Amino acid sequence: MRGYSIWSLARNALAARADWPRAWRSPPLRARYDAVIVGAGGHGLAAAYYLARRHGLRDVLVVDKGWVGGGNTGRNTVTIRANYLREESIRFHAEGLRMWREMSGELGFNVMFSERGQLDLIQTWAKLRDVKRRQSLLRLAGVPFEIVAPAEAKARVPILDLDGPKRLPVLAATWHPTAGVARHDAVAWGYARAADALGVDIVQNCEVTAIRRDGGRVSGVETTRGFVAAPKVALAVSAHASVLAATAGVRLPIETVPLQAFVSEPLKPMLSCVVNCPGQVYLSQSDKGELVIGGGSDPVPSYAQRGEFATLERIVTNLVELFPVLGRVRMLRQWAGAIDLCHDTSPIVSKTDVEGLYLDVGWGSGGFKAIPAGGAAFADLIATDMPGAPIAAFALDRFARGRPLYETAGASNRD
Ligand SMILES: Cc1cc2nc3c(=O)[nH]c(=O)nc-3n(C[C@H](O)[C@H](O)[C@H](O)COP(=O)(O)OP(=O)(O)OC[C@H]3O[C@@H](n4cnc5c(N)ncnc54)[C@H](O)[C@@H]3O)c2cc1C
Repeated sequence: MRGYSIWSLARNALAARADWPRAWRSPPLRARYDAVIVGAGGHGLAAAYYLARRHGLRDVLVVDKGWVGGGNTGRNTVTIRANYLREESIRFHAEGLRMWREMSGELGFNVMFSERGQLDLIQTWAKLRDVKRRQSLLRLAGVPFEIVAPAEAKARVPILDLDGPKRLPVLAATWHPTAGVARHDAVAWGYARAADALGVDIVQNCEVTAIRRDGGRVSGVETTRGFVAAPKVALAVSAHASVLAATAGVRLPIETVPLQAFVSEPLKPMLSCVVNCPGQVYLSQSDKGELVIGGGSDPVPSYAQRGEFATLERIVTNLVELFPVLGRVRMLRQWAGAIDLCHDTSPIVSKTDVEGLYLDVGWGSGGFKAIPAGGAAFADLIATDMPGAPIAAFALDRFARGRPLYETAGASNRD
């Protein structure tokens, strides 16, 4: 092995590497595109990639007020799973799991997908009834999911304490072996790189301030760098969806609340799967050894990206009760993202009453896992104007038709 001195490492780190190729171009903003996608998070970038790849639509702009992956895609805790409650959601996320397995090969970029399984701890009889129902539906869809005894949970997660005094006992657990995690930045970078290579323009640090319409159809977007004309405008802006859609006269049933997460100092490997105690606390261990920890959302609507102390305290209380050994672990950093929640906790992937205006929003606490399947379905919708089978149930008009799709499998407090 070649040896590197600290000086050569420092020299390389500080050197301006003009010879290194850019991962994606930085093109000037043009005055017109065939389609504008607002939001360079996972969903916007994946939609752009699949539009170019599957539909040959390459005159596409992805515009972001910040940087690629700088929204919730870069702030999330990366759990990927398909153990949902409704048939429509299960089918959609099962397809997503298949796409995650192939993503690194498809994009030519290692997104570090690790299929490590998820263990859910069941602490109430109501939740046990819920998972029994879920087990039948998941079985019908061919998604591996089983209810296991507390002793098996302990065997999978030795740091779990089942003996000490608890507010609630662990009654059972569920095991979902095809769940996993991936590297969030790599997912955004992989899609950005692949979309750019197909001719998509990605423009960062340019905010869309309003959607312009010409009568009943969209005509383009106003940005901080001027007007951009486009017959199709697609919003993938997570928490900012209701504000932006309102500029086109579209009201969305979305509430924005902070969702927190924090990571510990790096530790030796101690957790080989994702562990979730629904609505209370969940954790996994990153490749760097940090425990990545989250829980329910804050109760009060806000665009803040820090989160309430009371929520943090509740998550830590739940954590230490189930895993007392972590009581002495030091936390490294904490943050929050503003998430976009519909009251039925299902997303909106849909056309709107404004012709040419499309939405891929409302993913709440669960949209990272939905990036490949959501991006592909959104691209199909933008290209063909027809919602494919997996997303038909996510249409915006479900609220007006009285057909909400109540889910109980997110990490928000609406579970
Ligand atoms: C703490 C936390 C933990 C989470 N954990 C998980 C998890 O474990 N598993 C899971 O599946 N999901 C999780 N999520 C949810 C997940 O992160 C989101 O659902 C997902 O990232 C949404 O992706 P997106 O591309 O739609 O939005 P984002 O990644 O938020 O991208 C939206 C982009 O739009 C841009 N934008 C907004 N307004 C404008 C404007 N006016 N003009 C231009 N650009 C604009 C933003 O800058 C941003 O880059 C978590 C979220 C948080 C906050």
